Amino acid sequence: MSDASTLATDIMAAARAVGAVKIYGSGETEVRALAGVDITFEQGKFTAIMGPSGSGKSTLMHCMAALDNLTEGQAYIGDTDLSTLTDKELTMLRRDRVGFIFQAFNLVPTLNAIENITLPMDLAKRQPDQEWVDNVIATVGLSDRLTHRPNELSGGQQQRVAVSRALASQPEIIFADEPTGNLDSRSGNDVLKFMRDAVDDLGQTIVMVTHDAKAASYADRTVFLADGLLQGEMLNPTAEQILDYMKILQVGQFVRAIQEGATMEEVLEYMKDLDD
Ligand code: ADP
Repeated sequence: MSDASTLATDIMAAARAVGAVKIYGSGETEVRALAGVDITFEQGKFTAIMGPSGSGKSTLMHCMAALDNLTEGQAYIGDTDLSTLTDKELTMLRRDRVGFIFQAFNLVPTLNAIENITLPMDLAKRQPDQEWVDNVIATVGLSDRLTHRPNELSGGQQQRVAVSRALASQPEIIFADEPTGNLDSRSGNDVLKFMRDAVDDLGQTIVMVTHDAKAASYADRTVFLADGLLQGEMLNPTAEQILDYMKILQVGQFVRAIQEGATMEEVLEYMKDLDD
């Protein structure tokens, strides 16, 4: 039975996972990267995914972005259950409905900024919505750099071009994997502010994996993973609140590792992580 509140939630979901399980390998080497995750990413919101290293953040993002498939459970983009799609349909969904931003900017070095921004649409032989592209370019604040090639742009500017490229085709959702991982903090803040503006001014939906509490503090909502399970979430947290919660999660993982008979090297590795 669905009441008004669940209907409203369904309508607002840009993507969601239901009972998501991902197992790598089998037998002795089996790793349960996702152990049953239920999560909804709301339309028009900026969500950060955080958690200790190995907690399943990238796996969750890859499975939700149709870059990998779940072992059990469902991942949806809008109302589309990814497990029902053929390989060809998945390719089209990734091309038409999903945007990606990676740590390495992945720009084509021989194309200038504007050519890079419109490349996915040119490849898909789709006519860009000029008004929208102009809007994106105005938001990106690179109007005087559009004819520059990537090697004539700073790291922060290159990543802003990569964010614009993801935005240009108006995907239903953009997945970003450590988008500021290669940037100094000033350029990183620049890119995060641009992503924030894309959500506020252009209504974009963004899901970002990050290990940086400062980066996550730009999001509307931060969800926390540990051991392949959702541990909790915070709405509009400060970087300090995020850091405190991360410490608690890391201590929890550390205690469980000792209970499960971790080696001394593994314990020392965890302690090093706690100091970071
Ligand atoms: P995070 O992004 O939080 O660091 P990951 O999603 O990358 O975590 O990894 C979760 C767990 O799954 C880790 O134990 C990792 O070693 C394991 N894992 C990730 N990818 C693979 C793979 N292709 N093959 C085997 N194990 C993997």
